[in-house]
Amino acid sequence: MAKKHVPMRTCVVCGRSYPKRELIRVVRTPEGRVELDLQGKKPGRGAYLCTDPACWDLRVAIPRLQRTLRAPLDEEARHALAEYANTLRERRPAVVGEIP
Ligand SMILES: [Zn+2]
Repeated sequence: MAKKHVPMRTCVVCGRSYPKRELIRVVRTPEGRVELDLQGKKPGRGAYLCTDPACWDLRVAIPRLQRTLRAPLDEEARHALAEYANTLRERRPAVVGEIP
């Protein structure tokens, strides 16, 4: 039985490692711009975030990404991250105790 190698990456916020495919890649392009890379295929230096909405607290995530990517996140990059954070929160089931 052949064991398949699963590439692992670490979330820059919580520090847990996950199979690369389960993480969201943020890339610094060769032009020096920071972009969300949902397909994980853009060239450049990458940083990874897991899909736990807690890791998408941008006050924490943005400085970590900037440090890892060694590039500032411009307005557009921040906006893309904020949008993605919202879609993650919407996907979560209702909070326990919430009245339907
Ligand atoms: Zn995380």
